[in-house]
Amino acid sequence: MVDLDKLIKVAKDVRERAYVPYSGFKVGCALLTKNGKIFSGCNVENHGIMAICAERVAFCKAISEGEKDFEALLVIGGKDDLIYTTPCGYCRQFISEFCQKDFPIYMYYGDNKLDKKTLEELLPDNFNL
Ligand SMILES: [Zn+2]
Repeated sequence: MVDLDKLIKVAKDVRERAYVPYSGFKVGCALLTKNGKIFSGCNVENHGIMAICAERVAFCKAISEGEKDFEALLVIGGKDDLIYTTPCGYCRQFISEFCQKDFPIYMYYGDNKLDKKTLEELLPDNFNL
């Protein structure tokens, strides 16, 4: 069972550490592994074009710690208030490397609103070699 309150708290905390001097759009996410660990990620911008999204930060942190089985992802984002924020196209494809089509992705936004979509809903046809 996914403890969404915990994921929301982790995502909110890490979002405060987003490095976004260019867009001001702060994203935080919490990635839950099947064995109950949570990896956080925030977006990190750069004056070049090589910014990295919160989602890929979380996945890379988890994978570099030996985790490859994921249960759920929760994403939050916005400049000030939290607005409906989904993983970008690049991240959707990246996530599809490690997660099945039914992998749940939660979007927490507004005044305590929550939406859930599967990876397949967000990326019906991922690229495959
Ligand atoms: Zn992204």
